[in-house]
Amino acid sequence: MESHPDNPSQSSDTPHETKGFSEPPESQTIGGADDTDESGSDGVRNTSRADGFSGDIDLDDLDLDSDTDEADGASRGLFDDLLEGEPIFESKEVLRPSYTPHKLPHREEQINNMATILVTALRGDTPSNILIYGKTGTGKTASAKFVSEELETTSQKYEVPCEVQYINCEVTDTQYRVLAQLANKFIEKNEIYIENRLEDLEQLRDRTTSDSDALNGTNFDSADAVEDRIDELESDLAEFDPVPMTGWPTDRVYTTFFEAVDYHERVVVIMLDEIDKLVEKSGDDTLYNLSRMNSELKNSRVSIMGISNDLKFTDFLDPRVKSSLGEEEIVFPPYDATQLRDILQHRAETAFKPETLSEDVIPLCAAFAAQEHGDARRALDLLRTAGELAERGRTETVEETHVRKAQEKIELDRVVEVVRTLPTQSKLVLYATILLEKNGVHNINTGEVFNIYKRLCQEIDADVLTQRRVTDLISELDMLGIVNAIVVSKGRYGRTKEINLSVPLEETEAVLLSDSRIGEVEDAQPFVQARFDN
Ligand code: ADP
Ligand code: MG
Repeated sequence: MESHPDNPSQSSDTPHETKGFSEPPESQTIGGADDTDESGSDGVRNTSRADGFSGDIDLDDLDLDSDTDEADGASRGLFDDLLEGEPIFESKEVLRPSYTPHKLPHREEQINNMATILVTALRGDTPSNILIYGKTGTGKTASAKFVSEELETTSQKYEVPCEVQYINCEVTDTQYRVLAQLANKFIEKNEIYIENRLEDLEQLRDRTTSDSDALNGTNFDSADAVEDRIDELESDLAEFDPVPMTGWPTDRVYTTFFEAVDYHERVVVIMLDEIDKLVEKSGDDTLYNLSRMNSELKNSRVSIMGISNDLKFTDFLDPRVKSSLGEEEIVFPPYDATQLRDILQHRAETAFKPETLSEDVIPLCAAFAAQEHGDARRALDLLRTAGELAERGRTETVEETHVRKAQEKIELDRVVEVVRTLPTQSKLVLYATILLEKNGVHNINTGEVFNIYKRLCQEIDADVLTQRRVTDLISELDMLGIVNAIVVSKGRYGRTKEINLSVPLEETEAVLLSDSRIGEVEDAQPFVQARFDN
């Protein structure tokens, strides 16, 4: 995504500039905050009606139009029809996850805590590392981005060298990628810094030719010294070597990153969002390396802010990393229904046209999302989807029924996504359960699932797992909310599980069969069926 000039290799003993300087006027964009275009939603708005309109077009109207402008007549009639009626949304973008709100109600305490810790950076010292915890949708990312924007703005205002770098570790999920991305970002920043310095120095050099006092109050005692410094900076600039996306040994990537950060004096805050995903995928080496950097950096200081959805992820960390990373901890508790109402209310004011939401809509969205562990993302999704359903139904207001339909739709979308991405073995176990239910078996036990599962495996030449493994897979499906498995005691015969499907059967089956591997079974269905019957 980023483009870097192709520069030859970076020397290791770069001269460092430690005296005062002005912050590069780079306005760093963090995440997708900038890609919201509120005016752009109108064009998108009506496409969802496309399936319903064709029968409504009045051919006479089209003929009339063609009198005035033959070429455009037909298409104008088409879109006129689509544009009819009052649209509900003022700006749908405001309800999308990519939108970064500038007001975050009910997060004042967490935001203040972060600011109190990070203000140290504006005094030129190293802030403590921070670990932020909270379930999804509790406003962690939004708050962190808000704080980092404020921090950078203030650092520019007071000309304090402080930079924030945000990384989403769900996307950038290996040590190589994290370090490469950081290295390249800091190389970019260094290039801007050097270009600004060069501009200043070239002006200074020009002044020395006409003004003999030009060097007073600078670090330079002669025009030659200025010239040397310019040469030095120019060669630094030429030597920056961006890290390729793959292929280097990790220690070389680390060294490049280290040198880029240490190129000049500054405090650097590295925000690692979804840090639990990084640790899960690639272990804690990255965090270990980052957290011990400060003892070796000469000019700059690094502070880490980790954000995690998983409250227990530090259990997997090296104790040194754990204590270093968790110097300060901030918890983001789930929102309750009242807080979600405030959040929705606030966003709805800009997202919807006036008077388009009936009274119960926001409270119901808030109530549904509060059940879903107080997830603001879910609340906003519900509100947006309810609005879209109302729009599609061509009603003038969003009603309670739209929210209920939105809840069903989102839940179904979730199920479809979860089922679609299951590993083949879990799909087979789930399909076995579905076949049993379809044949009227209730309170299915593990043995029954296992028997059908085994036959399905044979049909498609898949490895047959042990019954014990299959029991584990059933527990996983239970945790994902796809089946409901309760343990029942059979007295002296031990215990078994009673399994019932907790998702809509037909939709789930359709998703399973869309997997080409599982689809093979469908062709063999009568065969399976015959065996199943006896
Ligand atoms: P997390 O990172 O904790 O999973 P996010 O910060 O991504 O959660 O928040 C999810 C969605 O809810 C985003 O669209 C965000 O803008 C919104 N949101 C969360 N908390 C608030 C709040 N206090 N006020 C307004 N919007 C919020
Ligand atoms: Mg987040």
